[in-house]
Amino acid sequence: MPELPEVETSCRGIRPHLDGQIISRLEVRQRKLRWPVPELLNELLPDNRITAVTRRGKYILLKVQGGSVMIHLGMSGCLRVLPQATPAGKHDHVDLILANGQMLRLTDPRRFGSVLWQPEGEIHALLADLGPEPLSEAFDAAYLHRRCEGRKTAIKQLIMDSKVVVGVGNIYANEALFLAGISPKRPAGNISGRRLETLTATIKQVLQDAIEQGGTTLRDFSGSDGKPGYFKQQLNVYGRGGKPCVRCLEPLVEVRLGQRSTVFCRFCQR
Ligand code: ZN
Repeated sequence: MPELPEVETSCRGIRPHLDGQIISRLEVRQRKLRWPVPELLNELLPDNRITAVTRRGKYILLKVQGGSVMIHLGMSGCLRVLPQATPAGKHDHVDLILANGQMLRLTDPRRFGSVLWQPEGEIHALLADLGPEPLSEAFDAAYLHRRCEGRKTAIKQLIMDSKVVVGVGNIYANEALFLAGISPKRPAGNISGRRLETLTATIKQVLQDAIEQGGTTLRDFSGSDGKPGYFKQQLNVYGRGGKPCVRCLEPLVEVRLGQRSTVFCRFCQR
């Protein structure tokens, strides 16, 4: 599933091809994605200019006059910028046709992705309850401390809650907790401010590293396969249950926490 770094990389990849371009029309071959693609888009988008390409959580936002097109990649979606003549495959559900001969194509075999509309001046219900962006200044130690105070929830589940902070997926939660030396099972309210400060930093670090890694593998979204996929990042714990801890060489423990695979070192993480 594309995580925040992959979505950020997709966003950066398509931006130079879309920013400032005029939309000719929207071609929808399959309207039934996770939510139906609003028919209204066929009226709103023609002759409209894209003035910004941004990201909020795992949504890519294409700002146009009157609002923003919100694109989510779901479980298996990818975006490519292609010449309009490129034949559509079975899973190429939506094309945003540009006046310059190019198009943005959403390919999504599992159809958990979405293309939605956020009118200007409103916040879409799916974005309304989101916590701060992890790489923004709003997400700092003082903020995390406030959100942890009095909470018995395991810290791993708390940092994966998008109402607390967006985009900390399972891989990155595992890795950030290892780097911070904090047990994923520890109740959030039972962690000192100093250790939460470290955790805030390691969350930013693992995400930033993944984005940079994506940036280096990313050449040009135009004509590429459009699949940044999982970045071949050096992972210390995720997917390494039973293998030796990179620090103390003791076997890493793997448990389920909130139904998600959780790997940690009993000795290095308290
Ligand atoms: Zn260890």
